[in-house]
Amino acid sequence: MPASAKPAYVIHRPEYILDVEILKGHRFRLGLNEVQAVLVSRTAGICRFLWNLALEQRSLAWSWGRHSVGYNAQAGELADLKGYAPWIAEAPHHCLQQTLRDLDRAFQNFFAGRASYPTFRKKFARDSFRFPDPKQFVVDEAGERVKLPKLGWVSYCNGKGRHALKLAGKVKSITVSREGKHWFASILCEIERAAPKQVQAPAVGVDLGVAQAMTTSTGEVLAVLGMTRAEERRKARLQRSMARKRKGSKNQSKARTRLAEFQSRISRRRRDAIHKATTYLSKNHGRVVVEDLRVKNMTASAKGTLEAPGRNVKAKAGLNRAVLNVAFGEIRRQLEYKCRWYGSELVAVNPAYTSQRCSECGHTEAANRPSQAVFCCLKCGHAENADHNAAKNILKEGSRLHEPKVSGSARQRAIDGSHGRSAAGLAAKACGGKASAARRSRKPVA
Ligand SMILES: [Zn+2]
Repeated sequence: MPASAKPAYVIHRPEYILDVEILKGHRFRLGLNEVQAVLVSRTAGICRFLWNLALEQRSLAWSWGRHSVGYNAQAGELADLKGYAPWIAEAPHHCLQQTLRDLDRAFQNFFAGRASYPTFRKKFARDSFRFPDPKQFVVDEAGERVKLPKLGWVSYCNGKGRHALKLAGKVKSITVSREGKHWFASILCEIERAAPKQVQAPAVGVDLGVAQAMTTSTGEVLAVLGMTRAEERRKARLQRSMARKRKGSKNQSKARTRLAEFQSRISRRRRDAIHKATTYLSKNHGRVVVEDLRVKNMTASAKGTLEAPGRNVKAKAGLNRAVLNVAFGEIRRQLEYKCRWYGSELVAVNPAYTSQRCSECGHTEAANRPSQAVFCCLKCGHAENADHNAAKNILKEGSRLHEPKVSGSARQRAIDGSHGRSAAGLAAKACGGKASAARRSRKPVA
């Protein structure tokens, strides 16, 4: 097995964090009146126009004169732009600035190699705009309404009783976005809280699969994502129906709404399933080990390197497009903040060969996995569900490459120096303690 460059790393380890500052978002459906609905739709349209215009300016400036245009330059030209096209002033100025900031961040992500080149925004796709300054809006929680610039008071629906969301901490920003035929407000709050106690429970490995969404090393299957065959057929039918309608007609707009509603129902269901699964994982396990499925790694693991060329590059690319980009990034994002929230450790390991290696004897061979669902070791004959086997490997990888643990208070004392003992000494002690415990628990090998 070729050595991987970065086999495992800890994304979050609770002992090192003393006070946690967490950004938590709450999403509410907005109840807009007719005037507000038009205004919100127009604002989103203006922000989309500005995004596309600013993106074009950046692209052209670079391709013509190798001149790079930054945020400050573009924001400075906003007033001039309003002179040429007065309708741009219909949108709140802060939202326009925020659009330019978002574009700037998209470019920074591109330059840093984290994302691909920013693309033009399309009508009806991911319409959104943000109010970044808390001075600009008022949240009336008791009245379940927010006051937004140019829109006035807008009511939102919150659940009743224990299902109602309670805002906590300092409100930072509000993002308004469209999903299906409804508009939503995401209210972002900054919460300060004491570091949670570390969850005292065994570690778990999680395999993110396509057929069965998440399989743990204990053999649990957590959530089924994506669409069923019937739903895929229904989606195709709705898409065909929309394509057949005359462009710009009322019927086309009705068909578009039907398709958007269907897609938003699917995505709501998926979001709910992911939330339940990630909460369960982070709340009940001391360490959660996942595959490192960052965008860059996904493509790299498929293409491979000169020394270790990848297989199934094309099939893998299709897979990436299908599922990974949508759900896996979201799972990772939720695990990151929930592990911080509940006090468990999140570890990412290189996913290479985890699905081909035998979790019993360690034999690695592609033929070990005759089908998507079955794993059967050619060396020792160990047979198991393939995802379960992979999850066990992921857990092993995370534990194997995990450095000896020093308890949070011991480490803090070492840093403070109040006990006059060195951190290395404490680490050695903790390591020795752990090793003897491991020796005690080791079972005789048959
Ligand atoms: Zn084996």
